Amino acid sequence: MSEKYIYFFWEGKAEGTGQMKDLLGGKGAGLAEMTNLGINVPPGFTITTRVCTLFYENGGKVPESLIDEQQKYLQRLEGVLGKKLGDPANPLLVSVRSGAKFSMPGMMDTILNLGLNDRTIEGLAKLTGDRRFALDSYRRFIQMFGNVVLNIPKEKFEKQLTAVKQEKNVKLDTGLKAEDWTEVIRRFKEVVRKETGSDFPQDPQKQLDMARDAVFQSWNNDRARYYRKQNRIPDDLGTAVNVQAMVFGNMGDKSATGVGFTRNPSTGEKQFYGEYLTNAQGEDVVAGIRTPKPIMGLKDEMPAAYEQLRDITSRLEKHYRDVQDFEFTIENERLFMLQTRTGKRTAAAAVKIAVDMVNEELITKEEAVLRIDPAQLDQLLHPIIDPSQNVEVAATGLPASPGAATGVIAFTADEAVEVVERDKLPVILVREETVPDDIHGMDVAKGILTARGGMTSHAAVVARGMGKPCVAGCESLLIDEHNRTLRIGDKVVKDGEYITIDGGKGHVIVGKVKLQDPELSGEFGTLMKWADEFRKLRVRANADIPRDAQVARRFGAQGIGLCRSEHMFFDPERVPVIQEMILARTPEERKPALQKIKEWQRSDFVGLFREMNGFPVTVRLLDPPLHEFLPRREELMLEVAQLKFQIQSGSSDSKLQDDLARKEALLKRVNELHEMNPMLGHRGCRLGLTYPDISEMQIEAIFEAAAEVQKDGVRCTPEIMIPLVGIAEEFRLAKKQVDEIAERIFTQSGIRVLYLTGTMIELPRAALVADEIAREAEFFSFGTNDLTQTTYGLSRDDIGKLLPKYVEMKILQKDPFVTIDRKGVGQLMKTAVEKGRSARGDLKLGICGEHGGDPESVEFCHQLKLNYVSCSPFRVPIARLAAAQAALKEKGAGDLSKAQL
Ligand code: ADP
Ligand code: MG
Ligand code: MG
Repeated sequence: MSEKYIYFFWEGKAEGTGQMKDLLGGKGAGLAEMTNLGINVPPGFTITTRVCTLFYENGGKVPESLIDEQQKYLQRLEGVLGKKLGDPANPLLVSVRSGAKFSMPGMMDTILNLGLNDRTIEGLAKLTGDRRFALDSYRRFIQMFGNVVLNIPKEKFEKQLTAVKQEKNVKLDTGLKAEDWTEVIRRFKEVVRKETGSDFPQDPQKQLDMARDAVFQSWNNDRARYYRKQNRIPDDLGTAVNVQAMVFGNMGDKSATGVGFTRNPSTGEKQFYGEYLTNAQGEDVVAGIRTPKPIMGLKDEMPAAYEQLRDITSRLEKHYRDVQDFEFTIENERLFMLQTRTGKRTAAAAVKIAVDMVNEELITKEEAVLRIDPAQLDQLLHPIIDPSQNVEVAATGLPASPGAATGVIAFTADEAVEVVERDKLPVILVREETVPDDIHGMDVAKGILTARGGMTSHAAVVARGMGKPCVAGCESLLIDEHNRTLRIGDKVVKDGEYITIDGGKGHVIVGKVKLQDPELSGEFGTLMKWADEFRKLRVRANADIPRDAQVARRFGAQGIGLCRSEHMFFDPERVPVIQEMILARTPEERKPALQKIKEWQRSDFVGLFREMNGFPVTVRLLDPPLHEFLPRREELMLEVAQLKFQIQSGSSDSKLQDDLARKEALLKRVNELHEMNPMLGHRGCRLGLTYPDISEMQIEAIFEAAAEVQKDGVRCTPEIMIPLVGIAEEFRLAKKQVDEIAERIFTQSGIRVLYLTGTMIELPRAALVADEIAREAEFFSFGTNDLTQTTYGLSRDDIGKLLPKYVEMKILQKDPFVTIDRKGVGQLMKTAVEKGRSARGDLKLGICGEHGGDPESVEFCHQLKLNYVSCSPFRVPIARLAAAQAALKEKGAGDLSKAQL
């Protein structure tokens, strides 16, 4: 027996189920599940994703045995409905719908009314007694088929339609009479003939096969590939094809079509939510051609259908135990469900819905924690408009995706990319309505503003997915791309000028507005509390100054995992003194500068220790090569040359002479310190060991600060971290210095502070001899930025362009500087953990590279049984959630929730 390629759904029974997303795609699985639940779904069948794979393997041909199978299922469908494809008296009409495992909004187009031709249209007209409706359906079909299957640009059809409307002097489609539609159809067919060189295909069987293959083809169009890349969806999943009997929302005033959510996808509130259009066909709602009505209107217009819709959708929500995003059509007051799937939502909504559903006893706390995508939390930490400001709202549209954004206006996607790349300015993309081809522009924009379309328009859906602010359907917007102006209400904004949008309120404001960090909701706090109950990893933050430490504490950091002590040097006021320190040639000469720097460091550490109020603070001793604190060599050379020239040309200003002498001395020192490979040069512990007076100053500052804070009753546990150790002896010497100075200060101050001395693991050798190092070190912190550089031998500062290329060429699956490379770098970490712990059972282990805030890397750290991860303050909530998920997945709760998705 050959492989089964088709699964039917009709008469309350489907061959597939909701679990079969891999094979049937999300849409097909949803249709099967709804059918099995006894919900009214137009009958049809799903051609599997497997056929898509074979289609590509066969060079664009479906497998031989599908042909017969499809014929068989088509006949059964005809039998069920008592209609026949192509029968002029009683024609079967179908939609051909794509549907991959993961929903890809607007990526692949659906064809409606397939089966219509010059003869079947007469049957349809007679059967429905509505000729105008039949003609409208036919012209829609030619247009969709022409665009999706024959690749004819939509505008070619639109142009003809507009022309006929003008000739007939009508404004709306609904103003056209039957004979006008006949004229439109004639012109549409002419467009097809002109564009393709052949007539519009009249054979419904051929129409069906062409449409099916076009769906498979569309899996690999540019938009779909781009979307998959952005969303990390594998390229080899393929799409299914759903062939489904048509129902008609465009049969008059008792017919409608719409979409909705069981809860508000923007705020998460438990409120039935959706939009619909009377006398319209599916695509009209999402295409933004007519602005749809809020679903509440349906309650008045068609109360019975409305109640039924509420009933079915709340049943679906309970069944799937998650918010559903659904599509429906009402044909002469009869409701049909056309799609259901897990609703995409903003992070704020996701958090609220998860917490609400636990309270409603629909899901468990574990599931709630597992349901939130940690990376998505980032959205919640987005800025809002500073409420203390008085802003004048120039126009209001729909609040399609929350957050505020300020930027220069861009009229097209390409323009947005250009402005961002060339002028390095933030951009707000302003469009009538976005289309999938605009994705690259939406990607770089800070926010999106559209004049048309509803809450479920392309712009709204995509912006929410990207976590970007969006105001949609702002009808008082007048976009004049040609004159490069934008009229907002009674204000005019020109090219290069700023606007601000508030996607949470739907506001559009002319000009720049001050933004501020958001308040976090009570539900957010609840969810985080649950996450904290489950996680094993502790979460710290990388913070160099008290202000960052404060943010970190607010987000729940349990300590500082990395304080880069030298970041305190970059204050403009301090730079000259730092330079003095570096220019000095002997410890004697260096002393006065060191004394000043020590005072600064001490008071900075006091601030940090107080802020962290008992939580551990890891301070890394001086790490970067010294020349980073000096002016650039090339610039100095130029300045010296210029000064010399001025003096030679006769200026006798003594200030110039002094200047020259100073700059020449500086240049000399810069030349001495110049390195070919600074990343592997005189830096890290190598500095401290060769300039012991500099590290002495830092260590004294740390312990004096700790003693001072502790004297005031605040417990303080500094962890001194020695960077870039590769040789155990390096660490032994550094630690000896730490211990001696600490002891001296304890004796002097009479206050003893608990402290640890440890090292970063950022060189492969350190990982390999970790046991030897751990005999001396009390903690390890994986510096995975440098460890990734040194393991790959790739300089992160120099390969910015190469890496994306490598990912594109699939040489690398992922950027190893974003997500830990488990195979290589991870192997070294594992070795270091094992060897380290074998030498010292209570060795404390953490990570302080940027990977500490990447959910996948956090999971790996959990698996390695590290004690903590440390990341930037704004990523602390993300790390907390990711750590909880890692712990739950290990317990097996992960499978439970996956089954629900
Ligand atoms: P997308 O994946 O872009 O949402 P769909 O396959 O869901 O595409 O089709 C878009 C719209 O077309 C649906 O929301 C629905 O309104 C309409 N549609 C699809 N199939 C049918 C059908 N058999 N009868 C009536 N309308 C349909
Ligand atoms: Mg759909
Ligand atoms: Mg480093």
